[in-house]
Amino acid sequence: MEQIGTFGASPYKVEDLQLFNGTNAETTARALAGCAIIRLPHGGKVADSYRARLYIVLRGALDVEADTSSGMNDGTVSRILPGESVGEQAVLDDTANLFAITASEESDLLVIEAELVWRLIDESNGLARNLLRMLSFRIRAANALLRRRQKLGEFYRQLSLNDSLTGLCNRAWLNDMLPKMIATAQRNGAPLSLVMIDLDHFKRFNDTHGHPAGDDALRVASDVVAAALRPTDFAVRYGGEELMVILPDTSEQLALMVAERLCWRLQEAVVFSDMRLPLPHITGSFGVACLAAGETEDALVARADAALYRAKQDGRNRVAL
Ligand code: GH3
Ligand code: MG
Ligand code: MG
Repeated sequence: MEQIGTFGASPYKVEDLQLFNGTNAETTARALAGCAIIRLPHGGKVADSYRARLYIVLRGALDVEADTSSGMNDGTVSRILPGESVGEQAVLDDTANLFAITASEESDLLVIEAELVWRLIDESNGLARNLLRMLSFRIRAANALLRRRQKLGEFYRQLSLNDSLTGLCNRAWLNDMLPKMIATAQRNGAPLSLVMIDLDHFKRFNDTHGHPAGDDALRVASDVVAAALRPTDFAVRYGGEELMVILPDTSEQLALMVAERLCWRLQEAVVFSDMRLPLPHITGSFGVACLAAGETEDALVARADAALYRAKQDGRNRVAL
């Protein structure tokens, strides 16, 4: 940062500075006459960690990175072009400029000390109005950025708990939630049932129709299951072509009915729009288990698995307890 002169001795004009739009150019020029103009080389930084100052780009361009002190810096950069300013907020709330300000090409900047900015505000309604408008714009931009970050965070949280192919809950979700749901059921003495589902001869399905059709079939099966459940139930993609349904507050008998219903709906599910391929396009085998008093999560899942194994043994496309 090298001072190359003052505003008064430079060819730059007040009329070109956004911040002073609509102010009396003569008075403003007089007030700014003694202000320093500094030159930054390409890549040069505004080193300004102690004082609040306002900078106006006269020539060149600055890249301003969002607040670097908060650890929230996600690479969002705004570019400040000739006539535009940076640092208004620092001046107004009297904090040092916490932004990383870098010249994206050789740039000349007008430096206005905080005291002078305040004096100008006192003397010029036009400047005060311009500052308010500029701040309002900056607040809007900051809010938009926060909303984007919030949405992005939510997106990644969802992504980490949902299976990308089927949209069902994934194993990470299950590992987190099933123990909690079982603990709640145990505490309240309420029933809780599991249904394990495994698509039948799915390897053969893939071999016959291709892997993409297999993916379609998995999506269709997942939609069928998800659509058939109550809002309080959960469908999970347990593994490759294995799904699990968690039914809180559901007795064994009711869970059996749910599983039977799912078994039927799967047989009726359409994977291929080609009418010549007769239904069922897919079938599944179902194992049902209802939480016993004091039973652990692992034991419950193992019983549902054992029931599923029996359904396979007994000929598939059926429900076993
Ligand atoms: P069974 O009736 O005994 O369950 O027979 P199966 O062929 O379904 O069982 P197996 O475990 O031998 O094969 C499972 C197949 O599921 C093999 C695997 O390629 C397929 N599969 C698992 N995940 C996916 C997937 O995401 N997409 C597709 N297209 N296929 C998958
Ligand atoms: Mg399997
Ligand atoms: Mg299978």
